[in-house]
Amino acid sequence: MSVFSHHEFDNHQQVAFFNDPASGLKAIIAVHNTNLGPALGGCRMWPYISDDEALTDVLRLSRGMTYKSALANLQLGGGKAVIIGDPANAKTGALLHAMGDFIDGLGGRYITAEDSGTSVADIQKIGERTSYVSGINQISAHGGDPSPSTAYGVFVSLREAVYHKLGRTDLKGTKVAIQGLGSVGYRLAAQLADAGATLYVSDIIQANVDRAVRELKATAVAGDKIFSLEVDVFAPCALGAAINDKSIAQLKASIIAGAANNQLASVEHGYQLHRRGILYAPDYVVNAGGIIDVFYQRKMIEDNYGADNYADDLNTKVEGIAATLREIFVRSDNENIPTFVIADRVAEERFTDPKSIGQSGLAATPLGSLV
Ligand code: NAD
Repeated sequence: MSVFSHHEFDNHQQVAFFNDPASGLKAIIAVHNTNLGPALGGCRMWPYISDDEALTDVLRLSRGMTYKSALANLQLGGGKAVIIGDPANAKTGALLHAMGDFIDGLGGRYITAEDSGTSVADIQKIGERTSYVSGINQISAHGGDPSPSTAYGVFVSLREAVYHKLGRTDLKGTKVAIQGLGSVGYRLAAQLADAGATLYVSDIIQANVDRAVRELKATAVAGDKIFSLEVDVFAPCALGAAINDKSIAQLKASIIAGAANNQLASVEHGYQLHRRGILYAPDYVVNAGGIIDVFYQRKMIEDNYGADNYADDLNTKVEGIAATLREIFVRSDNENIPTFVIADRVAEERFTDPKSIGQSGLAATPLGSLV
């Protein structure tokens, strides 16, 4: 397993490995870039089949956090943690405490939060050993869980994409296929149903599908058929690489807007979407609601920032994702460059030149004023 020459290394500032035989903890923390602030990103627990798979995942996710926070105008860098193990049976208090010690040893360069396989309760447990945690503030909007803010950000993004591509000012009758009905996907589905969208859903957990059919009048779709539906929007809300060699050939949607990280299996898939006229709302722009939420949750503690200020600023900032997207879409049209390339360029300008970002990190600064 190589690190510095790893294909996803991309100039990471730090990659730390941790092994604690007593608790069984094997974990990796990747700090991609801290130019804009400490690296904040979730802690994922997953039964990776190899160390290399875990390293690849943490490097990709960590880099994505740098771009996400830069585009959301937050004074945060990008980092991520992975714990190698099955969250269903390997997660113990001792293991989470050991993870807290590991994070604490980095002295604040990396701050953790929830991700797949870790809950608010787990991050609280980690927080018994380190103050470098977020997403556990009980007086925040959703008791610490950032998923509702992520879902709301995806909802406003999807609405913006529908307006830009289809000229519709509301979502009534808009057909949306959602892959994955977990913490984010289900909440997104509920908001779309409220807005009058027609839903098609898939999940590998049948109970999640049944609930959406029962409560949201969604139509259940089996497995990979979700890619080939005649819909307006495909919303990937499960795992990464949903847009790959196999799925891209089947897509009939004219818009892709969803919560999953790293939706494009490769950049070539992004170019293909652009050539086919499919509007891709870049994942890390769309799903920034969660990082915005944990940023403010930490601010509440660090700066004694009031709960009312938090709620107001959080909503404004999450809704601001739509304005950022609009500018990306317009630039993509004007310059005939894929949306993900535009988003990457803007993020890179920001994190390589921290002076270009607002001093407070609070303003929903329009994209155009900074580039
Ligand atoms: P989750 O684990 O709660 O939900 C994922 C759902 O996808 C589960 O219900 C799972 O059964 C389903 N799924 C897995 N493989 C599938 C497949 N092949 N087909 C259909 N369904 C499948 O996760 P989440 O918190 O809802 O996050 C969803 C995605 O959004 C993830 O990629 C995550 O990294 C990303 N994301 C989440 C947040 C957040 O705040 N939770 C923030 C940013 C990005």
